[in-house]
Amino acid sequence: MNEYEIVIVGAGPGGSTAAKEAAEKGLKTIFFERGRTPGEKNSSGCGLGPRLWREFDIMKEINSKDCPSIREGRAARNYMVDSEGKVTGYIMTTPTSSVEYEPAKSWITLNCYRSDFDPWLAKYAVEAGAELKTSTLVTGLLKEDGKVVGVIDEKGEKYKGFVIGADGAVSMVAQQSGLRQRWGQKQVTLTLQYDFECSTSKIDDVMGDEALAVWWSATFPAAYQVFFNSSFHIGFGNWMTWWDRNPVHYLNKVINLDYFQRLIRVLDAKPREFQAHLLPWMGMPVNTHTDNVILIGDAGGFPCPLEAEGIYPAMVTGRAAIETAAEAISACDTSKQFLSLYDKKWMETSVGEDFKSGPELQSIWMALPFSPRQSMSWFVPLFMEILGGIIDWSEAHPVRIRQVARRIKQYLPQLVPFIVKEVIPLLTSVLGEDRMDLLTDPEKLLTAMPEIEEAITKAFTSEEED
Ligand SMILES: Cc1cc2nc3c(=O)[nH]c(=O)nc-3n(C[C@H](O)[C@H](O)[C@H](O)COP(=O)(O)OP(=O)(O)OC[C@H]3O[C@@H](n4cnc5c(N)ncnc54)[C@H](O)[C@@H]3O)c2cc1C
Repeated sequence: MNEYEIVIVGAGPGGSTAAKEAAEKGLKTIFFERGRTPGEKNSSGCGLGPRLWREFDIMKEINSKDCPSIREGRAARNYMVDSEGKVTGYIMTTPTSSVEYEPAKSWITLNCYRSDFDPWLAKYAVEAGAELKTSTLVTGLLKEDGKVVGVIDEKGEKYKGFVIGADGAVSMVAQQSGLRQRWGQKQVTLTLQYDFECSTSKIDDVMGDEALAVWWSATFPAAYQVFFNSSFHIGFGNWMTWWDRNPVHYLNKVINLDYFQRLIRVLDAKPREFQAHLLPWMGMPVNTHTDNVILIGDAGGFPCPLEAEGIYPAMVTGRAAIETAAEAISACDTSKQFLSLYDKKWMETSVGEDFKSGPELQSIWMALPFSPRQSMSWFVPLFMEILGGIIDWSEAHPVRIRQVARRIKQYLPQLVPFIVKEVIPLLTSVLGEDRMDLLTDPEKLLTAMPEIEEAITKAFTSEEED
């Protein structure tokens, strides 16, 4: 029997962060990875969010020598694709002036391959003193009197200690500890993507800083594109809500767009790999711990309830789990009851903030961009009419304005129910029913801004107060 204080299943971003934090606290720690190296078994690439740099000092050390796939996503293109499959416009976005810290002011995401990032992160845990066992599948939980006391690997080797389930979306630890059966269909999303290779210089020339893109359309769910140093991904994220056909059918619609094909030609890009992964996507994680066990990252259902950003939540919950486990071990109480401290800890982080406000915003999110047939079919032409219609030389401007207004009128049957069902309830919950008159009076609105700001904060924290 191998005795440890902390036994971590999985060396993804969550597992490696937990291993590093545990080793730094002087806890005897082992972490297991079924791949030959961390990152080998994961989706090939990701965008790392700037909150990681704000809260994890090691992120400042990431560099293109250790992680050659790195590319900064300083700007994002938002392509509008009409129901005929034509790109009718695109808007480029960059970090806005309300962003408060570096590097969030400079870029939206730092794009990086997991085969670079995961080993880079795991190295810090090993340097801190954690033992990493790769090419080792953990197949079961070790139990005494029905309680989890450790893990068993595929060779039958036993490891005793406090168990951290960092084993991703299809978590063995979650299922064998009784915290969860398989995910329900509404708790997960299927993320599928193609990986294309192309030269660094072509991406520099064609895309420049615009290393991110979202393709919004009425004929497929919103598709994301992420550029790395010499490759890119095109895929569907947490927005895949159509299950009437094989999702690959819809992904192929994206890459078969004339505009996309042109992009492939100018980039001289070659398809390299197809990937499909499950990703938890929940309004609120539940059952995150039991006696002697804590789930972190995807295993616990922590990807952001809006955009399914998952690396940052995995690392934050990895840290919170170890803080909790260390306190539990020193109090000689690793009971489920004591470990509820874990929920308190992660709810106090920025990950908890996201979950507090998730449900209201998720509702709008799902209603507009991610119900392509119901809403993007009118939103794309409406938006393009407003954007492109006024600056047009086909007629005298007053004539054009009348034409645009007449066209917009056609979309009112879709627009009005959307406003009534989605926008007004959100505004009412924030402002209060009796203050809706503020919306029609700019002067009153300005003077009421501090009050509105307070109401927004209160609305999004009401769950905690309840
Ligand atoms: C296609 C796709 C794109 C994504 N893009 C982004 C993005 O751009 N930005 C972002 O922030 N998030 C992104 N995410 C989400 C993000 O990848 C996850 O939320 C994040 O990786 C979760 O980290 P984790 O450590 O909890 O789990 P994982 O990264 O899944 O790591 C779990 C590790 O455990 C190992 N493992 C599993 N079972 C066992 C076992 N029994 N024994 C031993 N080892 C085991 C696995 O091999 C793996 O290395 C994306 C997800 C997908 C699928």
